[in-house]
Amino acid sequence: MDYLADRTKLIDASGIRKVFALAAELKDPVNFSIGQPDFDVPPAVKKAAIKAIENGHNHYSQTVGTQNLLQKIRDKVAADYGWADPSLLVTSGVSGGLLLAFMAAVNPGDEVIVPDPYFVMYKHLVRMLGGTCVFADSYPDFKLPVETIEALVTKKTKMLILNSPTNPTGAVYTEQEIKAIADIARRHDLLVISDEIYEDFCYDGCCASMGNHYDGTLVLKGYSKSYAMTGWRMGYAVGTEKLKPLIDKMIQIQQYTFVCAPTPFQMAAVEAMDLDISDYISTYRRKRNRVYEGIKNAFEAVKPGGAFYMFIKTPDRYSGATEFVKKAIENNLLIIPGNVFSEKDTHFRIAYTTTDDKLDRGIDILCRLAK
Ligand code: PMP
Repeated sequence: MDYLADRTKLIDASGIRKVFALAAELKDPVNFSIGQPDFDVPPAVKKAAIKAIENGHNHYSQTVGTQNLLQKIRDKVAADYGWADPSLLVTSGVSGGLLLAFMAAVNPGDEVIVPDPYFVMYKHLVRMLGGTCVFADSYPDFKLPVETIEALVTKKTKMLILNSPTNPTGAVYTEQEIKAIADIARRHDLLVISDEIYEDFCYDGCCASMGNHYDGTLVLKGYSKSYAMTGWRMGYAVGTEKLKPLIDKMIQIQQYTFVCAPTPFQMAAVEAMDLDISDYISTYRRKRNRVYEGIKNAFEAVKPGGAFYMFIKTPDRYSGATEFVKKAIENNLLIIPGNVFSEKDTHFRIAYTTTDDKLDRGIDILCRLAK
């Protein structure tokens, strides 16, 4: 008997995990494949988590989150969006928020528009729920493809997913682009999910948010990247009054799935939100510049404005990104082929989340392979 549900046949092993498996076999590789910061959780935040555990905050919290953290988030949301009484819940990472939102919103047959390249999780989660991802090509500059998106809207379109700064391209959408999409969403009454997990990693000015332009936006934010706490599984989902029914359903689904986000880390997140992380961000801005300057003459690449990724065109003499990535791995450099994040296989992703020394070694290997 086949114990597997049909929906499992709609997904494949993550291409990133396949590269991780290869990484385990290499000796001291240059690893440009990891989508998490190379700094550790700031000491004050670690202390807050340890204190919370020692003081017995080890049980379930309320499903929506602890009161202290909810208040802290409300303050930030009031400052960022001017929303006095938002609907809100604390989630187990942005991944948790995405799953709850999709479970609450996607019906079989619904179409979900996603700019391509995209963060891997969207496609697979939407598919498992019976929805269809409709991809809006954003090559070659990875700007928000406003006209393409408009042309893709049909009667079946339910939702649009935006992610800025973007994984895997590092693109940061402009206020103007976001406003144009807000107009389209308003006209067609679409739900917009705005994944802003990289909001702090914005190198050339502020990061515009869809939340400021369209009240049908579910904003997802996280702690994983900003505070290097990817293993702590912390995030939140927030929206205006208009999204209250959706967020109430997400809270209900959380009761039957995650129950709550980890309680001691909710306590630590309150501490984290008071921290100044500008030094970390400056370090990553320098790394962005270092890598871009290092490869720009050897590759076709767009200078990214945020996150910690670059999405680079594979040199023409390779058959595609998969062949190029194979060559890179033979040379002890781990990168991810573009088809993990895209319907195309013309580019590869690097994450510059490593030491400057490793960055220089990686740049050398890439430039050698491009020649
Ligand atoms: N969204 C994007 C765009 C991401 O890159 C990631 C992590 N790679 C996530 C969501 C999930 O992050 P987490 O669940 O750790 O908050």
